[in-house]
Amino acid sequence: MGLRQARAPHTVGERRIDAVTGPSIFTRILSGDIPGEIVRDTDRLFAIRDIAPQAPLHLLVIPKTEEYRNVAELAAGDPGLLAELVALAGELAAEHGDGDFRLVFNTGEGAGQTVFHVHAHVLAGALPEGSLGQG
Ligand code: 5GP
Repeated sequence: MGLRQARAPHTVGERRIDAVTGPSIFTRILSGDIPGEIVRDTDRLFAIRDIAPQAPLHLLVIPKTEEYRNVAELAAGDPGLLAELVALAGELAAEHGDGDFRLVFNTGEGAGQTVFHVHAHVLAGALPEGSLGQG
């Protein structure tokens, strides 16, 4: 944890490869290198169950590309993909619960980001009001 990916990755096919750390933990789950529960796999996105859930439902929705480190980069670089991600979060919240959900993008180490391959936390399941920012 806490390792930042180097800033000069090269690309092999569609995948950003980092000379220091290699593919992100999420890419490694998608490719089957390491275990993980993949709950959705689309053309440009996938979703997994978080290994350390912080709500009754805690999924991560992740672009397949590693090109964007955080949601600000994604919004600037491919707003359509960000819109797809939000739509998929809503679909999954409806499929796995009552459709209500909280969408969290930790952006930067100071905000708790540990994996620098953009991902949305989809949290749901009777979340208490006023709980944002606790922890
Ligand atoms: P961040 O802290 O970057 O916003 O979120 C990273 C998330 O990835 C954390 O909630 C953490 O629990 C989750 N995570 C880290 N390693 C793994 C893993 O190997 N498998 C799964 N399913 N989730 C992971």
